Amino acid sequence: MDAALISGRRVVVDAERPPLDHAAVLVADGAVVTVGPTAELTAAHPEVVHHAFPGCTVLPGLIDAHVHLAFEVDRDPVPALRDADHDVLRATVADHAAAMLAAGITSVRDLGDRDGLVAAFRDEVASGSVRGPRVLTAGAPLTPPGGHCWFLGGEVERDGIRAAVAARAAAGLDVVKVMASGGMMTPTGPGIADTQFDLPTLQLVVAAAREVGLPVAAHAHGTTSIAMAARAGVDTVEHAGWYGADGGRNRDDAVAEELAASGAVTVPTRFRGWPDWPAEELEAALDRQRWADAHGIPVIVGNDAGAGRGRFDDLHDALTYYVEVGWTPAQVLAATTCRSADALGLGDVTGRLVPGLAADLLVVDGDPLADVRALARPRLVCARGRWA
Ligand SMILES: [Zn+2]
Repeated sequence: MDAALISGRRVVVDAERPPLDHAAVLVADGAVVTVGPTAELTAAHPEVVHHAFPGCTVLPGLIDAHVHLAFEVDRDPVPALRDADHDVLRATVADHAAAMLAAGITSVRDLGDRDGLVAAFRDEVASGSVRGPRVLTAGAPLTPPGGHCWFLGGEVERDGIRAAVAARAAAGLDVVKVMASGGMMTPTGPGIADTQFDLPTLQLVVAAAREVGLPVAAHAHGTTSIAMAARAGVDTVEHAGWYGADGGRNRDDAVAEELAASGAVTVPTRFRGWPDWPAEELEAALDRQRWADAHGIPVIVGNDAGAGRGRFDDLHDALTYYVEVGWTPAQVLAATTCRSADALGLGDVTGRLVPGLAADLLVVDGDPLADVRALARPRLVCARGRWA
């Protein structure tokens, strides 16, 4: 792409640093070249096309750390994925990715699909033949025979773990997903608070992944599975619902401390429609997040888009939820840009508007550092220097 200057009332270079006012971003060849005062950059680069967005904020493109591009929101994925035609699923993946990009989401981590569909799409995006967000993909999650999401094709016994992980590396996948607990989507499998693999098996998954240089994402709803995931040394804990064996919630301080000390980052995923939840349920959920925050457990933003919980066309419910928890807009922004990039191994690729990183940026009306709802008003989305 030719060089371009994109200016706004404000530029968020790094969500954890003060923004620059009346600033511009110079991009060329898909990367950020420099960021500085608009007057200076326009004077220094008179030949470059200037896209001015007065009253707007320019910020790094958003990252959704937990999606399922092949799933249809509000449809039972078991028959949908088991029976769907390959070409139909491929079109579904592309449609969902396009919706995410239009909403300003320039990177996604897909944590479960079938037949390497998302990996194929990722490669098309990377080659430039298709527009879409940058994709990291786990392929089929590891699960015991008949376990949670078995229908995605990742069933494995303990003695097959090493080969299954090696096969994922050989297939060029980006992350190993392991189902440490049951879930809601597989009525015939273990329940949400139940564990699926024992600790030595989870440790084997992590060891095998380390050998091939892949991170591990553990699906863990229940407190026991969260504890096992932390002990096994996984990189991210998905959902982290703190369910107890009795079906209620089990906020275990010792487990929270262990999780925080493990360095794992959590990706809670339940936000959809939160303003309409029963007041008691909402207050309990918010309080649980505040409790986890007080223990210093890191969080990045993901909404489980496709799995009935999250939509593809915005991260709105997730972002406003964290504000309701008590985070500042800057903290919310960091958890869906720079901190997320760092946690997903993309810190030297995206998440900040600094020289050399990808020109993944978003222009929104207003100031998301004052009100995150501004993120729902994208004016321009640019992924690796290409306008969406
Ligand atoms: Zn999921």
